[in-house]
Amino acid sequence: MEAIDIQPWMFRVEPLEGESLSHFLGRFRRANELTPTGLGKMAGLGGAIARWEKFYLNPFPSGEQLAALAVVVGVEAERLQEMLPPAGVGMKLEPIRLCGACYAQSPCHKIEWQFKGMQGCDRHGLRLLSECPNCGARFKVPALWVDGLCQRCFMGFEEMVKSQKLCCTEMRL
Ligand SMILES: [Zn+2]
Ligand SMILES: [Zn+2]
Repeated sequence: MEAIDIQPWMFRVEPLEGESLSHFLGRFRRANELTPTGLGKMAGLGGAIARWEKFYLNPFPSGEQLAALAVVVGVEAERLQEMLPPAGVGMKLEPIRLCGACYAQSPCHKIEWQFKGMQGCDRHGLRLLSECPNCGARFKVPALWVDGLCQRCFMGFEEMVKSQKLCCTEMRL
């Protein structure tokens, strides 16, 4: 895989396995001190970055748009595509969901948690959380997950695994 040359003053951020586009964009922006609008301008994508961070994927990001983003973030367009739902898989915008066990292994929001019909994490056999089990707050959009904590009661995402119920049925779509 060849690396894309990005502007030398930009910090490159390596995508994590299964990471959603929203989570990746948030990390890239913070590493480079960019706002959604700023990144959108740099990539010539206008307000699209802000929409994608909220998983507003209608219209769906085009190949051209992802190629433009690839040049700025230094990650190939095909890899960016993997951060989005595959063709034919519906997305659930809300609530934002979490598997604390996955987060403990790799601190990111996974795109598959938002797939329609996805109730549990098949890696851990656990039901996904759709709110903080301690205080009931909804999770923020993944682009805003800075510290891996509930924004209201500060419970760590990894700790939340203790409250995840086992799921007994096969959850794959
Ligand atoms: Zn998991
Ligand atoms: Zn909380």
